[in-house]
Amino acid sequence: MRCLITGGAGFIGSHLAEELLRAGHAVTVVDDLSTGSLENIEPLRSEVRFRCVIDTVLNRHLMAELVNWADVVFHLAAVVGVRLVVEDPARAIETNVRTLEIVLELAAPKRKKVIFTSTSEVYGKTSRVPFREDDDLVLGAPWRSRWGYACSKALGEFLALAYWREYGVPVVIARLFNTVGPRQTDRYGMVIPTFVRQALRGEPITVYGDGQQTRSFCWVGDTVRALMALAEHPGAVGQIFNVGSDEEVRIADVAYQVKALSGSASPIVFIPYDRAYGDGFEDMRRRVPDLTKIRTLIGYRPTTRLEEILWRVLLHHRRFEVDRSLAL
Ligand code: UDP
Repeated sequence: MRCLITGGAGFIGSHLAEELLRAGHAVTVVDDLSTGSLENIEPLRSEVRFRCVIDTVLNRHLMAELVNWADVVFHLAAVVGVRLVVEDPARAIETNVRTLEIVLELAAPKRKKVIFTSTSEVYGKTSRVPFREDDDLVLGAPWRSRWGYACSKALGEFLALAYWREYGVPVVIARLFNTVGPRQTDRYGMVIPTFVRQALRGEPITVYGDGQQTRSFCWVGDTVRALMALAEHPGAVGQIFNVGSDEEVRIADVAYQVKALSGSASPIVFIPYDRAYGDGFEDMRRRVPDLTKIRTLIGYRPTTRLEEILWRVLLHHRRFEVDRSLAL
C-alpha cells in the first residue's frame, strides 16, 4: 500500500511510519513540525520507500497531490495535549476540524481510504465504565475550554461518517486512549513522560487533583498495530473503534510506581487543578475502554502492561538525560 500519514513526524505517527515500512509499504509523511520533530523520523530518512514533506495539511494544493498518490490516508495531524488545548483553544479546534475537512474532501473523488484518529476524550465525563463505542458522549460546558478538543474530534467523527454514508468514502475511526512510549515528549504536559522526567531529575513529581482519577495507558506499538489492522480489514469501514489498554490505574499510583522503578528521591506533590491548568478546569474521573469490538474484528489485545511500559519509557528517557548532561 501507499500510505500517507498526516502528523507523521509526531510521536504516534513516527512509530506508525516505522511499522508500515517494516511491513513493506511505501510511506509519505506530511508534518508541519508544530509538535512533531525531524528527530522522530531521522532513522527512516534513508529508506527508499519513505518520503517526508514538511508542510501543513492546510496546504490544499500539496495535499491534493499527496492524497492522489496514496491508497490510504492515516490522518493523525492534530493539536495534542491538554495543556496546548487549554492555552490555545482556537487553534486546537480550527486545526482539528479544518485538516480533517481537507483530507475528506480530497479523498472523496477517488474514494481513498481514510483512517481518522479520534480520541477517548470524546466520551467526556461519562461515568459508565468501561466506555463502549455506541455510548452517549457527555461533554462539559463550552466555557470550559478543555471540552472544545473533544467536541472538535466528535465533530470530526460525524463528518467522517457522513462522508462514508453520503459519498462512499471508506473511513475508519479509531478512538485512541492514552498512548505511551518512547519519543512522547513531556513538552505538552502528558503525564507519563512528565513524571519520568521529574523522577530522573530529582524534581517534585506533580500529581494534579487528588490523584484518584484513573487512566488506562496503551503501549504505542499496540496502538500502531491496531491502526494498521483496522486499515486492512474491510469490515472496519464506516465503524468506530476504541484503541487502547483496559488496565485501569490511578494517577497517584502511576507517580508512586515511577518513583519506585526509577529509584528517585523526588517528593510526590499534589497540585490543585486550577493551579495546573487555570480556573474552571474539569478532569474526567475514570477512563477505561471496552475493547470487545476491536477484539472481535481483528483479534486485538494489548500486549504490554503498565509496569513494562514504564520501564521502557524510563530507559528511553535515561538515554536522553545522559545525552543532555554530556551536551551541557
Ligand atoms: N496529570 C498529572 N500530572 C501531570 C500531568 C498530568 O497528575 O504533570 C494528570 C492529568 O490531570 C490527568 C492525567 O494525569 O488526570 C492524564 O493526563 P494527560 O495530560 O497525560 O492526558 P489526558 O488523559 O488528561 O488527556
